[in-house]
Amino acid sequence: MEPRYRAPRGTFDFIYPESEKVEALLAAASEILATRGYRRISTPMLESTELFRRGIGEATDIVTKEMYTFEDQGGESLSLRPEATAPVIRAYLERSLFAQGLPQKLFYAGPMFRRERPQAGRFRQFHQLGAEVIGTRDTFIDAEIISISDVLFKRLGLEAYELVVNSVGCGECRPSYVRMLSGFLEGISQALCEECRRRSRENPMRVFDCKNERCREALEAAPAIGEQLCPECRVHFQEVVDHLETLGVAFRVDPKLVRGLDYYTNTAFEFKFEGLSAQNTVSAGGRYDGLAEQLGGPETPGVGFSLGIERLLLALEAQGLDPFTPPRLSVFVAGAPGVERSSVLDILVALREAGVSADADFMDRGLKSQMKQADRLGARLVLIVGKDELERGEITIRDLDRSSQVEVSLAGMVPAIREMLEAGSEDV
Ligand code: ATP
Ligand code: MG
Repeated sequence: MEPRYRAPRGTFDFIYPESEKVEALLAAASEILATRGYRRISTPMLESTELFRRGIGEATDIVTKEMYTFEDQGGESLSLRPEATAPVIRAYLERSLFAQGLPQKLFYAGPMFRRERPQAGRFRQFHQLGAEVIGTRDTFIDAEIISISDVLFKRLGLEAYELVVNSVGCGECRPSYVRMLSGFLEGISQALCEECRRRSRENPMRVFDCKNERCREALEAAPAIGEQLCPECRVHFQEVVDHLETLGVAFRVDPKLVRGLDYYTNTAFEFKFEGLSAQNTVSAGGRYDGLAEQLGGPETPGVGFSLGIERLLLALEAQGLDPFTPPRLSVFVAGAPGVERSSVLDILVALREAGVSADADFMDRGLKSQMKQADRLGARLVLIVGKDELERGEITIRDLDRSSQVEVSLAGMVPAIREMLEAGSEDV
């Protein structure tokens, strides 16, 4: 039957086991972040449109064509958040987090929304995990922020990825670079797409965002920001690179790497994976020392990363990795023919009260299909509640992993189950 309603284009449901993988992934990442002093922050999915216009930049792809923007009943322009850095800085300023001491190390996870053309690894609602450190220019923190994705990838067993780093300079060195780039772009404008010609006029560095092959080729010979840094930015970058080496994080310097958002200064980075088509950047970020001021706050340095959860799942799949064991049910309580349903439910409730994960049949199944259901649920043990046994005060426990079976007294049921679960499913 054709479903009447479908999830909107570019969105999808996370159903198990993917939903559980996401949870396990977030738990692994949270652990890495927490052990480095990061605290969780959660901002609204809606923000004023102006926050993103100011905080991401008028000439960016996100602001010009990817935001879900609407006017609410009160006439206020709101947008679904396309990213979380501007919201986190907004919260930092609004809630005076600086009063809690600096630096502030924050992390977040949740859905983001961009109206892009849906394709593998590119969705209209997707999920990001990210962190921001606000209030310090210390170059170790740049390296720490970069290393978090690397630690996570290694912990998950991922290989075949590359970290690319660069510096995009500062208010001192960027203007002269942008002039140089503009001159270059004028000379090759014939080879550029319509969009890039517009970018050339409005915000030349955005041309490096273009995914068009022809534009990319034409830009091969473009001057690179990483080669035009002022002395201070060169030192900053060198220190970041040195710290990465100390942290044992492998990287390649690409002097042409720029980031899609306007507020970046100095450090920029991307983790690219092999075999993920064009959507191969799984994690990316950088320093944004101008953002807080841009949002009306005092001069406040910041650095962060953002990692795409769906792309991370695709990378795991592409590398044949499944590091998460789905949660298993410990016990399925099956009623044999002739047994009162209330006896089955009493046992089920007793198990749950004892803290044992347990479920039972709610479809009036025969014993055989109850066994199948137990199997589907990945149950380790099946309790078979039989009429005669119950009258004797006994119950049968079948171990599905070991294919063995014992009879125990009702009073000894919970301890026996605990013992069997603790002993594991491997034969000794
Ligand atoms: P891309 O160049 O692939 O469009 P981006 O530069 O727009 O990425 P960021 O804004 O840096 O991406 O977001 C950080 C991460 O979020 C990306 O590296 C990616 O993993 C993920 N991401 C961004 N846009 C999408 C999307 N539409 N669908 C799924 N994941 C996304
Ligand atoms: Mg993008």
